Amino acid sequence: MRKWFPLFCLLFPLATSAQKDKELAITHVTVIDCTGAAPSPNSTVIIGNGHISGVGPSDRVTIPAGVRVIDGSGKFLIPGLWDMHGHLTDATEDAFPLLILNGVTGVRDMGGDLAQIDRWRSEIDRGLRVGPHIIRAGPFVDGPKGGVSNRLTVRTPEEARQAVHNLKAKGVDFIKVHNALPPEAFFALMEEARKEHLPVAVHLPKGVSSAEASDAGVASLEHIETINESALWRKGATAKTVEQAVDENLGPAGQELFQRFAKNGTWYVPTLVAYERGFVLWSNDPESLKPRLDVHEKQIELVRKMHKAGVPIMTGSDFSDWALVPGVDLHNELALLVEAGFSPMEALQAATLNPAKFLGKTDTFGTIQVRRVADLILLNANPLEDISHTRKINAVVLGGNFYPLAAIRAQSLTSR
Ligand SMILES: [Zn+2]
Repeated sequence: MRKWFPLFCLLFPLATSAQKDKELAITHVTVIDCTGAAPSPNSTVIIGNGHISGVGPSDRVTIPAGVRVIDGSGKFLIPGLWDMHGHLTDATEDAFPLLILNGVTGVRDMGGDLAQIDRWRSEIDRGLRVGPHIIRAGPFVDGPKGGVSNRLTVRTPEEARQAVHNLKAKGVDFIKVHNALPPEAFFALMEEARKEHLPVAVHLPKGVSSAEASDAGVASLEHIETINESALWRKGATAKTVEQAVDENLGPAGQELFQRFAKNGTWYVPTLVAYERGFVLWSNDPESLKPRLDVHEKQIELVRKMHKAGVPIMTGSDFSDWALVPGVDLHNELALLVEAGFSPMEALQAATLNPAKFLGKTDTFGTIQVRRVADLILLNANPLEDISHTRKINAVVLGGNFYPLAAIRAQSLTSR
């Protein structure tokens, strides 16, 4: 990833020079505001002070004197994307330019070095570094496990309650539970987190079923494959293999589970791309590839059923596990959601409006509406026609700062 460093150097001076452009108008553009409304062709978006201050038909919106005007003719404007499952500590600061170049303007950090993430976050806030908005869990809450870092190791219900208070005192935005947390400790943590009003995101602990976690009030469940693990270890389990577990979830038992998620308001972040990269694309053993490919295809089917059952779903890539690429793989996740039956608009919303809803920040992020933070992507092609067009990025607006990516890329290529 070091090869992106020259690009990063180019983004740096832009960060300061872009301040002057805080007043901006993008004219004659097709706005896909992600509220669910139809696209509005020939629109103008006015940006002032890092926020959207006006949106409307180009012939009706008055452009304030002296603002920089970007002609958006033939182009499409969508809100910035959120990766709701990332690990910045693993990805290192190399991730920041990649995220922004790919239009990922917000990240939910799912476990890492809190002090480091907060240093980055403060540098971004002060304009010293170009990077996304960050919501972070700090250290994972996990059971005893070797060879891992950034963990609060919890063995008992008492330690789980203490962990909640420690994290609350550190000011984390939410808690991330990982899979070795003992079940009794998990349930105690859920109880204490509810009292402390801390949302909990869960990589399902071994021995806890997805239904139990949903009933216990988790905010989000992570990774599609964990519902299959759940089917193997839940009380009264009959499935003996992953294949049987997947088939169980594709049947009435899964339907019941998805209805429960929907009723409890449990969000799901399937990270289909992480499974695809980690277990399918990176496998060079034909023996093991075939069954994994079958499971992957059925897991896409599970996401389709979940979506149909009304389970709220968000995009997450799980960068930088499994050699996932920050920013790039969010676009692969969008494509996988479309493969799972999402309309392109629904897939876009899973990366824009839904994260804003999940975070309780629809007044701030997620749509192209007045008063929202000006995080925008200017595309050269219509993403509602083909979701892969989200990759055709002409420019990114981050907090009102304009980054003409086509120009930056060209500049970086010629300066080598
Ligand atoms: Zn993860």
